[in-house]
Amino acid sequence: MTIEKELSGIQKNVLLKNYTTFKIGGKTNYFYIAKSKKELIFAVKMAKKFRLSFFILGKGSKLLVSDEGFKGLVIKLEKVNCKLENEKIYAEAGVSLNRLVKMATENNLTGLEWAAGIPGTVGGAIRGNAGAFGSSIKDIVEKVEVYDVRNDKVKILKNKDCQFGYRESTFKKNPHLIILSSQFHLKGGDKKKITEKIKENLNYRKQRQPLEFPSAGSVFKNPPGDSAGELIEKCGLRGKQIGKIKISEKHANFIINLGNGRAGDVKKLIELIKKEVKKKFAIELEEEIQYLGFENP
Ligand SMILES: Cc1cc2nc3c(=O)[nH]c(=O)nc-3n(C[C@H](O)[C@H](O)[C@H](O)COP(=O)(O)OP(=O)(O)OC[C@H]3O[C@@H](n4cnc5c(N)ncnc54)[C@H](O)[C@@H]3O)c2cc1C
Repeated sequence: MTIEKELSGIQKNVLLKNYTTFKIGGKTNYFYIAKSKKELIFAVKMAKKFRLSFFILGKGSKLLVSDEGFKGLVIKLEKVNCKLENEKIYAEAGVSLNRLVKMATENNLTGLEWAAGIPGTVGGAIRGNAGAFGSSIKDIVEKVEVYDVRNDKVKILKNKDCQFGYRESTFKKNPHLIILSSQFHLKGGDKKKITEKIKENLNYRKQRQPLEFPSAGSVFKNPPGDSAGELIEKCGLRGKQIGKIKISEKHANFIINLGNGRAGDVKKLIELIKKEVKKKFAIELEEEIQYLGFENP
């Protein structure tokens, strides 16, 4: 028996650059699109059965995939449920943040305006406690439904069990926990004000971020009391280019792909930034982006 026979719809040798916002990354041996929680759990079980490494992929918007790709099964979440119950939104992990924002706005609910324009999914956002403009997803998560790969059980975690911190959560520390869905609590608000706030936030992004180029958003976390972008700028690295990869001149914490850029060159720029910032400020920058397929990330 092979995984191809057991997991219907599985694809082979799929280029991951087509599934990341960086538009970078080699092939994965196997690729599967899960359209429900059941399909997701089944795919994980199959990976275990056939002793394949597996990786859960949302929108690939916080991800650097190596040029060599990934030896294993990538499970991508797509076409999933999202529904409203009073002032709560239930969303499966593959739901995009933009869909969530739209649903909240249409129903006069406030609390998600900061998330407009973040090109990720609910699962990716909860894992990294995504945030902007002084808010983050932890402020609205009520509970999270998870699949524990180690004991094959589904359980519910309350907000406090998720150990949210700045771009941190229990899911980062415990990769055996896969996010299946979440319930968010929002507040009743005024649609006009909500829409205005969203517009303002989107304008801010457009002005400050190089949205015209593929990227993975901010590369580094901000060190306490500091801005990673400013530190990089002060090292004179704004605009520094290796191959087709460049440190954005618009926002130095963004690394952009000028077209057919290579992960290896992104990695070189990341190492250069870390070295220079440490030399000049004695600060160790920590990556916010996640790596896939690197031997020593
Ligand atoms: C232009 C731009 C602007 C951005 N602005 C912001 C911003 O303002 N704030 C911010 O926080 N981020 C920002 N981001 C980064 C990114 O969009 C978010 O962090 C987003 O939440 C990541 O979600 P994703 O679905 O793309 O995750 P992916 O990149 O697909 O995955 C990220 C990590 O999460 C894991 N993961 C995904 N789904 C699950 C799941 N169901 N269960 C367990 N693990 C899972 C993956 O395995 C991986 O390790 C920006 C990115 C871009 C390109």
